[in-house]
Amino acid sequence: MNTPVANGPKLSVVVPCFNEAEVIEITHGRLSSALKAITPSYEIIYVDDGSRDATPELLSAIQQADPNTRFIRLSRNFGHQIAVTAGIEYARGAAVVLIDADLQDPPEVIADLVAKWEQGYHVVYAQRAVRQGESHFKLWTARIFYRLINRLSEVPIPLDTGDFRLMDRSVTTALKRMPERHRMLRAMTSWVGFRQVSVPYVRAERFAGESKYPLKKMIAFALDGIVSFSAIPLKVVTFFGFGFSALSALGILYALMMRLLTDVWVPGWTLIFISVMLVGGLQFIFLGVIGEYIGRIYSEAKGRPLYLVMQELGFEPSPPEPGAAQTAAAAPAADRQEV
Ligand code: UDP
Ligand code: MG
Repeated sequence: MNTPVANGPKLSVVVPCFNEAEVIEITHGRLSSALKAITPSYEIIYVDDGSRDATPELLSAIQQADPNTRFIRLSRNFGHQIAVTAGIEYARGAAVVLIDADLQDPPEVIADLVAKWEQGYHVVYAQRAVRQGESHFKLWTARIFYRLINRLSEVPIPLDTGDFRLMDRSVTTALKRMPERHRMLRAMTSWVGFRQVSVPYVRAERFAGESKYPLKKMIAFALDGIVSFSAIPLKVVTFFGFGFSALSALGILYALMMRLLTDVWVPGWTLIFISVMLVGGLQFIFLGVIGEYIGRIYSEAKGRPLYLVMQELGFEPSPPEPGAAQTAAAAPAADRQEV
């Protein structure tokens, strides 16, 4: 089955790295031996996402020493999802595996993912059976997030999965045709379809360093997931809009009747005050929701490249297979070094 692209390897493993100097060498060792046990035909693509520590230097040294690795360095920090997207666009394997750099996703699980792929599945996602060393708060927020997004989203997002997954070339080709910038890859791979299956695994503690997902980023990520995959907030707004219009029609009728049929129409101040406050408040909320969508339309409409590459190591002179999402981004890297 799965034919690789011309002289591409069987497996490409994409590792996004942001300030991972403390662990990256250990990760490379463990990842390489896990992969060698599966197939000699693999490539590891490290994507440096604008690290401010020694990560890029360590990665280029790793690349120099190991012909199975490639390295791209983004021009600044673009965020985890974009870094992974860049890696996917550079990958040439018949299957692409996404894995975190901090050893929270055990590289040994890749063998299980590959086994399922060889049975004919296109997306094999690793599903957390247990999470070690995460705070109650993180587990609890993650839980709420997945429940909420599944209620709202048009595509189901499997519970307790991150981006640790294997995707067949047919799926990565599809992903390259999805140029949206507010990306949530786990939802996008679900949207793509094909045959999908899960493999349970035990999520380890972060090996070293700290999580780059503080609460603020987590909320932004959750909001992206909901707004990019669901128009339900807009529908709720419309629903409330109609509801309150009906209520105000009743209110007007009431006010007119009081005014015309009775003589107790002066002390209506309370009602007016409350309704003004209520409507004003609601309008702010609704404008906010609409603004969320308009903001996204605005950023999509600009059509900027998703990322810019500053350095590439270990690639042939020809640029990577152009993908829709990346046409502009594939522009020759300023500081391109061939090995
Ligand atoms: N990461 C990245 N860019 C960022 C933040 C994170 O490339 O802006 C990488 C990070 O190096 C790691 C992966 O994405 O390999 C997951 O990040 P992290 O472990 O901090 O997230 P958590 O496991 O806490 O959800
Ligand atoms: Mg982590």
